[in-house]
Amino acid sequence: MEKSIPEMYGSLVFNDSVMKEKLPKDVYRKLHKTSKYGASLDLDVANTVAAAMKNWAVEHGATHFTHWFQPMTGVTAEKHDSFISPRSNGEVIMEFSGKELVKGEPDASSFPSGGLRATFEARGYTAWDPSSPAFIKDGTLYIPTAFCSYSGEALDKKTPLLRSMEALNEQAVKVLHLLGYDDVTHIDTTIGSEQEYFLIDKDLYKKRKDLLLTGRTLIGAPAPKGQEMEDHYFGVLKPKVSEYMHDLDEELWKLGVPAKTKHNEVAPAQHELAPVFETANVAVDHNQLTMEMMKKVADKHHYACLLHEKPFAGVNGSGKHDNWSIVTNTKMNLLDPGSDPYHNKTFLIFLLATISAVDNYQDLLRISVASAGNDHRLGANEAPPAVVSIFVGDELAKVLDAIDHEASMEKTEKTEMSIGAAVLPNFVKDPTDRNRTSPFAFTGNKFEFRMPGSSLSVADPNIILNTAVASSLEDIYDALKDVPAEELDQEVYKLLKKMLDDHKRILFNGNGYTDAWLEEAKKRGLFNLKSLPDALPQFKAEKNVDLFTKYHIFTESEIDSRYEIKLENYSKTIHIEALTMIDMVKRDFTPALFKYMKAVESELLDKKALLGSVSGYDLRVLKELDACSNAIDEGLAKLEADVKKAEGETDSLAQAEFYHDVILKDMDELRVPVDTAEAKLPSEALPYPTYDQLLFSL
Ligand code: ADP
Ligand code: MG
Repeated sequence: MEKSIPEMYGSLVFNDSVMKEKLPKDVYRKLHKTSKYGASLDLDVANTVAAAMKNWAVEHGATHFTHWFQPMTGVTAEKHDSFISPRSNGEVIMEFSGKELVKGEPDASSFPSGGLRATFEARGYTAWDPSSPAFIKDGTLYIPTAFCSYSGEALDKKTPLLRSMEALNEQAVKVLHLLGYDDVTHIDTTIGSEQEYFLIDKDLYKKRKDLLLTGRTLIGAPAPKGQEMEDHYFGVLKPKVSEYMHDLDEELWKLGVPAKTKHNEVAPAQHELAPVFETANVAVDHNQLTMEMMKKVADKHHYACLLHEKPFAGVNGSGKHDNWSIVTNTKMNLLDPGSDPYHNKTFLIFLLATISAVDNYQDLLRISVASAGNDHRLGANEAPPAVVSIFVGDELAKVLDAIDHEASMEKTEKTEMSIGAAVLPNFVKDPTDRNRTSPFAFTGNKFEFRMPGSSLSVADPNIILNTAVASSLEDIYDALKDVPAEELDQEVYKLLKKMLDDHKRILFNGNGYTDAWLEEAKKRGLFNLKSLPDALPQFKAEKNVDLFTKYHIFTESEIDSRYEIKLENYSKTIHIEALTMIDMVKRDFTPALFKYMKAVESELLDKKALLGSVSGYDLRVLKELDACSNAIDEGLAKLEADVKKAEGETDSLAQAEFYHDVILKDMDELRVPVDTAEAKLPSEALPYPTYDQLLFSL
């Protein structure tokens, strides 16, 4: 019989309830302390945990274990070792020690390090992260780990995320104690990351070099239909797609990933999955698993899952909304305004801490989501602009206005909503409407950062967010710590007003897609960092280096390394795209074009022999195709010459700028005659599937 969902959920996870059952009480308690509060772990405890984990894993069919980590490639890495340990009598036993659980030593030399590690220092370490549960996948026990170099520098995304969570914890608890919450000992950042993706037919996918090698289409005439009918968003799920989603949910549930919502997205063939939010660190691991499972389950269903931010020109790309909040160990959501936000000091302090953090570190937030793929979305009227701003909605805007004008404010009553048909239930109206165009929106009891791209590790934006808010909270603490208790209320509102004065330029409730806003943002002195090479130099701005080093998120050499890796990754991505485009145009498209032109030409010659002269449609087609072919020739020559120049550039920033300013433009220009010609070719003459086949065949 099939398992029920509660039985299936987390069945492959060494989670809290399994640990409680399998571990001696004192060991469980010590481990719990480590995973919740970062206490260090002694080897005895590790040994006991390792043995229990191994027994449990073997019972569930596992033969191997792996330290699972998140190098700066943005995807995960793993190396599998079996549990077997041969004995002298020729038999084997299954063994797993505390040492093996706690520490691994993968060769680090083939992962990006941005110059942190010389090749002769190839050694890297992985260290068990007990705050994210181990799980079984494909017969292997996966142990979430952090990854660092021989000299202790972080080479991954998890380490700085954990550091940022600790920084935020320390500052938030200090402020909460000041406000009288003596029972708060710990806070957690919570994250729910909505994940968008495309599904296309696997056979069609395999026929396109650009999709295979770069994840996006580099050429292709638009389909006669795009997303203009608005009939796909939330539309009925097609049965086959629905089966895929069902299967995906089940695989994720087994791994303890709380997949919750699924629906069709705006573009044809585009969909979304949203989980229930979790502690940041676990949510990040689970988002990585989600992306991996999306691809794996797709393969089983004869689909290809595209996680690229802009797989198709002319229809929406894919993002990953990062919903973020802070919750205390006493289960208080610090961004919950409650029924009377104006009088909710705690909420207002955390709200303004976030607002000022976003204003102070707009540039870092922008950088955290910058990639060659995501740069195609931001500012393209389908995703937020590259300018970071905050939407708080009408109700909070009124509250902030009152604070700003030192006016008092009555509690606002909730509005009952009646739709006017007696059979429909009335319900309480949400305090704010939505604003889809805002990069950073308050959505009821959390903020939603909408700039991240679909393939990004959500660790990146959350490292910045946590650290920036920690810094604001420390300023708040410093401003209030010596205030006598009876004056605290008054001083809080004074401080809130001052923070608002300093940072209200970041608040914007209007339409973020308009040019008027970009003008206005410029007047307000907000950053508009349009591309990765535009944005990245800010990573090393003094204020940002100060922030990172003060809160021990990155050392200066870790900052340098991440800067180099981002630039390198950007340039390499566009380099591969350019080479792929050249290859496809030269070896796939133009031969097809010539073949078709030849057919038209011989038809014309036959016609001429018969009629003495030719004119009309077929002649015009040939002439137009000939013009395209000449333009393709020119475009190819320019792109090829410029790629050579790009390859020769030795300065990493100058190189990235060249890829942005010259190569991307060359590619756009070359695409025009290719797409124009494609639209005139019969489908069967084309060597690869077209946009209408890719987007509308499921
Ligand atoms: P939306 O507001 O986008 O329609 P939801 O309210 O369903 O959607 O939430 C979207 C995402 O936000 C979900 O992944 C959800 O779990 C997450 N979320 C909700 N509350 C919080 C919170 N307090 N902290 C972090 N994420 C949250
Ligand atoms: Mg959302």
